[in-house]
Amino acid sequence: MKNFPRSEDSLSISRDLMQDFNTRAVISLLYNGEPMPRTKIASKTGLAPATISNITSRLMSSGLIVEAGVGKSTGGRKPTLLDINEKFGYVMAVKIEARRVITGLYDLRTNKIAGGVTQLEPEPVVETVLEVIKSDYETYLKKGDILGVGVGVSGLISDEGAIIYTPILEWSNVSLADDLLSGKRVPVVVDNDVNALTLAEGWLGAGRSYDDFLCITVGEGIGAGLMIDGALHRGALGGAGEIGHITLDPNGPVCRCGENGCLEALASDYFLRNEIEKLNLKPATIDHLADLAKKNEASATEVFRKMGRNLGLGIKNLVNTLNPEAVLLGGERLSEANYFMPEMKQEVLNHSFPEEARELKIVRTELGKEGWLIGAALLSIRNFLNLPLHHKVKNPAPRQGIGKKTT
Ligand SMILES: [Zn+2]
Repeated sequence: MKNFPRSEDSLSISRDLMQDFNTRAVISLLYNGEPMPRTKIASKTGLAPATISNITSRLMSSGLIVEAGVGKSTGGRKPTLLDINEKFGYVMAVKIEARRVITGLYDLRTNKIAGGVTQLEPEPVVETVLEVIKSDYETYLKKGDILGVGVGVSGLISDEGAIIYTPILEWSNVSLADDLLSGKRVPVVVDNDVNALTLAEGWLGAGRSYDDFLCITVGEGIGAGLMIDGALHRGALGGAGEIGHITLDPNGPVCRCGENGCLEALASDYFLRNEIEKLNLKPATIDHLADLAKKNEASATEVFRKMGRNLGLGIKNLVNTLNPEAVLLGGERLSEANYFMPEMKQEVLNHSFPEEARELKIVRTELGKEGWLIGAALLSIRNFLNLPLHHKVKNPAPRQGIGKKTT
């Protein structure tokens, strides 16, 4: 295995700087907010102007922050605005699926620089997937420094980024982050793919004004990301939100997992394919079923309506348990949401407390398919900048102990 080469100079300088708590406060403010003058950075962080001047000049010489135009004058000369240099370096984002590996190169503001998709043979082994990622990494490296790699994959992922189990690939106990690192020169962050999507929607998409929301993905499987009080809830083994196999009907159809009446057996692509078989559709594809639903063909619309009711039933259990402000719908079947979302909404609202139902927003995710990769990129970016993933938009806790004024 090859090590990931990287130029060390400017990157290591800024990494040392970021170990400084005050420096991190400045970076956090600029990354999460608008470009601003030094005076505003001082007032927002509570740090002395001299401290800010010191920190910003160090960050500017490392290249991590840059001047970004001038602000409004408050009497004197117009102040220079500072911002994070989005082109300081890139991160590589990876989504591992059952049959393909999708990668992308992003700048620090998640603007996409490049991307690629590699199809895999069925049941790929770990080494094959690692080789694909490394090969894309080498290609992206030609475009500039890569500060880190973020990976999203379905399944149980430990806090350290090891894959405990992934049902789509049937891998167990794979230390992907360590194997990808091999030379320990570029940080690799691995998380559950739905968690990555939930983060992306929370920071940049439909969840950005909520502290408490669920991000439900519907496609080959059904998953949920749980943003609770501004933080992603992972559970003891990173398995929180694996809702596909909650039992909706003990006498229901057999699921892929062997149990009866799981949510996935009643509302995922697996369900749609079973219904397509019953209808004897030719061609037997979900696209064809959707075409028929578009033409208002009764048996096809009823399949989607049934899917919506079942999905709604599963979601209302989560809503009653967690009382979120919003439910975001995402995943591959979002493209057919017109046909099942009304029934899904109705089912959730019918079975929730009226007060809860009145307040609850049920909306579509906004970042589309790209959201998965943007989430993986954000994992890596925030790791590099040493910023928390925590996403609290309302009543954020007061800043504590950032530092005292020195003048
Ligand atoms: Zn199941």
